Amino acid sequence: MKGGKLIIFSAPSGSGKTTIVQHLLRQSELNLAFSVSATSRPRRAKEQHGKHYYFMSISEFKNHIKNGDFLEWEEVYRDNFYGTLKSEIERLWGEGKNVIFDIDVAGGLRIKRKFPKETLAVFVKPPSIDELKIRLKKRSTESEDKINMRIAKASVELATAPQFDKIIKNYDLEVALKESYNLVSEFIAAPNSSENSETKKLD
Ligand code: 5GP
Repeated sequence: MKGGKLIIFSAPSGSGKTTIVQHLLRQSELNLAFSVSATSRPRRAKEQHGKHYYFMSISEFKNHIKNGDFLEWEEVYRDNFYGTLKSEIERLWGEGKNVIFDIDVAGGLRIKRKFPKETLAVFVKPPSIDELKIRLKKRSTESEDKINMRIAKASVELATAPQFDKIIKNYDLEVALKESYNLVSEFIAAPNSSENSETKKLD
């Protein structure tokens, strides 16, 4: 199967990567499609199955792991599994799209290692851990406990930033959106170095 490019945005929870990814998806000339992940975490009020995530039980998720259906997966928080289904990427590549991911740092780096030439891996850096805490509280989608869990993970995640192709500082959202657009459009316009090589395999 032959595919387009893979664009990864990873960051600690609350860094603003979802806002950036949603902005890029609205720019039709980039020909991007969102990789809908599978997750075992509970659905939030405004989320839709198949649009934001494929919501499933822990046992369903584990069955997919056993069957080798994931390109990558992580237990991002305890009992909260997240993963990219191979079938999702096949579907989007089949539509001739460039695929954009909003995933955690470990998953992002895993995809980069699997497809080094066709992947742009971007790390979104928040101004500080304190600012992250403020943003997560403002969002109020998570309990105090869960916010603390996300904050504890953030410092570990920040240390992985140098392994990414690019780092975007999200101190001022307008600036971050422009920088992200420029990076992605430049990467998409460049010839795909694997275009003439053998077709891509997800396994
Ligand atoms: P949330 O629960 O806030 O939607 O997401 C929690 C974290 O899981 C975020 O950092 C998000 O980017 C990450 N995530 C979402 N989908 C995937 C996925 O398919 N794989 C991995 N490894 N992480 C994901």
